[in-house]
Amino acid sequence: MDTLTFGTHRLVHLDLKGAPPKLSYLEKFFPFIKDIGATGLLIEWEDTFPYTKELIQIGGLSNSAQVNNAPYSIEEARHILELIADNGLMIIPLVQTFGHMEFVLKHEQWRHLREEEEYPSSMCPTNSDTMPLIRSLLKQIVAFHPNIQYLHIGADEVWHLGTCPACIKRIQSSKHGKASLYLEHITEVAQYVKENYPHLKIIIWDDMLRNIDESILQEYYLGNLIEPMVWHYNNVETFHLGGALWEKYSNVFTNIWGATAFKGATSSCQILPINKYHVSNHEAWLSELSMHIGKLLNFKGIALTGWSRYDHYATLCELLPCSIPTLCLCMKTWITGGYSQDIHSSVSKMLGYTDTQLNLETPTRPAPIPPQLSFPGWQILVGFDWYINIKTKYRSVIDSDQMNTWFNQWQVLSNYTNPMQINSILPVLTSLHLEISSLENYMKMNLERHFYTHTIEELIGTLITPIKQHLRQLKCECETQLALGCRVRGQKRLNL
Ligand SMILES: [Zn+2]
Repeated sequence: MDTLTFGTHRLVHLDLKGAPPKLSYLEKFFPFIKDIGATGLLIEWEDTFPYTKELIQIGGLSNSAQVNNAPYSIEEARHILELIADNGLMIIPLVQTFGHMEFVLKHEQWRHLREEEEYPSSMCPTNSDTMPLIRSLLKQIVAFHPNIQYLHIGADEVWHLGTCPACIKRIQSSKHGKASLYLEHITEVAQYVKENYPHLKIIIWDDMLRNIDESILQEYYLGNLIEPMVWHYNNVETFHLGGALWEKYSNVFTNIWGATAFKGATSSCQILPINKYHVSNHEAWLSELSMHIGKLLNFKGIALTGWSRYDHYATLCELLPCSIPTLCLCMKTWITGGYSQDIHSSVSKMLGYTDTQLNLETPTRPAPIPPQLSFPGWQILVGFDWYINIKTKYRSVIDSDQMNTWFNQWQVLSNYTNPMQINSILPVLTSLHLEISSLENYMKMNLERHFYTHTIEELIGTLITPIKQHLRQLKCECETQLALGCRVRGQKRLNL
């Protein structure tokens, strides 16, 4: 199998900062991904990790997590690691150490470590309290994962770099400006790991290195300290890494990783993944590596990333159960060395798509919903399919000529409506209201099986409640207008 693919590792990224699944789901998920060809997991715990002692506020043991019935307890987290190991899958934990630090910097206790006082994204690498905090984070993560060989220290998308007065001063006296500031921090973190855990190899996201000259990367001996994970989530049409980048990295690094995406990379509020786009991303990677693999000493493999949110404060995007078909298509495409109709047929069959088709592209809505499928959490995918159908119907009613012509805001406020039109609008609104209420019950019941209360509340509150409330309000307005009967223009409400 490995002769056809690049590298030996096929990690599935578990982004727990959004919709962390219950253990009962993960119990089914780990053997499932093992079966389709995964070799390990890249686990991004973020604020779900049960941090203790000085870090207790951050994670699953904090008061706010407990109040919101959010994961994970020490026992649960340990159980997750056991489940992964029992399935013969490798574990690589990922902990952010520079940017994407909202889960830490949002707390008052660490506010003074922000690079930009107003924004909780990036840490100030110059503040003398920064490294002690990072050491604490790393210490707790490493201690909890005793058998690991790799540690991913994130370090991507440091939005604010060298903007605080102390960092500006440091940049002015450093040889390579912001590049020095970034590399000095990464080096310090990596050296701490090397000194205390010499058996660990360190991975970082590569994006901050892309625009730094090769000679500067060499000056910091980066190749001796870290292994970059080159991430790129675009499809074939928009994919752009290119020969110069591979040339540079191959001169600096012995070991290089890649990162594709099977979800959470097309839109920050995407509900169901666009299969074709993600398959295309994997095809693009295969073609990119075919062209440039000769330059690389050792391509270790890929992480198939599955983002749950674009960042800590972003809304949820595609849930894990909704993305299983995409993950299967992408994994098979990667392992086979390209996508084909055979992959579509075998994945469709394996997942139970018999009466309805596994769509590669976004279908025209409303679209048929599969009555039954056969993979962990398929009921949730069906629920979101149903939701998108309802939302499409809702939008077409709200934006309809009839609503805009005979039931617009001015007409309702002026009590200037025609009962004949309302009598045809009201049953449509009533039926939609009933349908979204049924969906709400279905979703609550099925989400409850695999997700915690805080995720269910967020999903229902974001997607379903606003539509349901709007429909209820419109229904009430229809009933009020019918009670008033048609009136002369300019006449105010009866009670006023
Ligand atoms: Zn600073």
